[in-house]
Amino acid sequence: MANPINTFLLTDLLKGLWTTFKNQKPSLVVTEQYPRERPPVMERYRGAPRLNTHPETAETLCISCNLCALACPEQLIVVTSERNPETRRKDLTNFTYDTSRCMFCGLCEDACPVDALELTQDFEMATFTREGQIWDRQMLEEGPLPTEYRH
Ligand code: SF4
Ligand code: SF4
Repeated sequence: MANPINTFLLTDLLKGLWTTFKNQKPSLVVTEQYPRERPPVMERYRGAPRLNTHPETAETLCISCNLCALACPEQLIVVTSERNPETRRKDLTNFTYDTSRCMFCGLCEDACPVDALELTQDFEMATFTREGQIWDRQMLEEGPLPTEYRH
């Protein structure tokens, strides 16, 4: 039962206010000021997929082997290619990746023999439509372009 003297003197209220006041030191504030300040991401975090290209020629590193698609338990990767009659190699024509179904397990990345497919540390992948969650080759090569917020 509440002590009537404490109730009269508002002791409990003052104790609560003192606790709140004590924790106002900037060093104790843990709220992340996202999106103004981007949080650090763990080294092994697996986020937005990326289809890597050669840094000098900008040609895709993907050899259209389809191993990533076969490794994916969700079967959300579709690799399309056509045989080049001159080089006898398969040229990548499109690559789609349904991020809405991805569980970021990394099996596709591990299956890729040429490190073309990579799960990056980008985490801003929200869209306004379901269709926007299906990334095509261009988006996979360029990466997401998150909105920059200013204050
Ligand atoms: S991370 Fe896993 S679920 Fe996502 S595409 Fe790769 S293999 Fe499939
Ligand atoms: S495993 Fe790698 S090289 Fe093969 S299709 Fe997938 S991304 Fe391309």
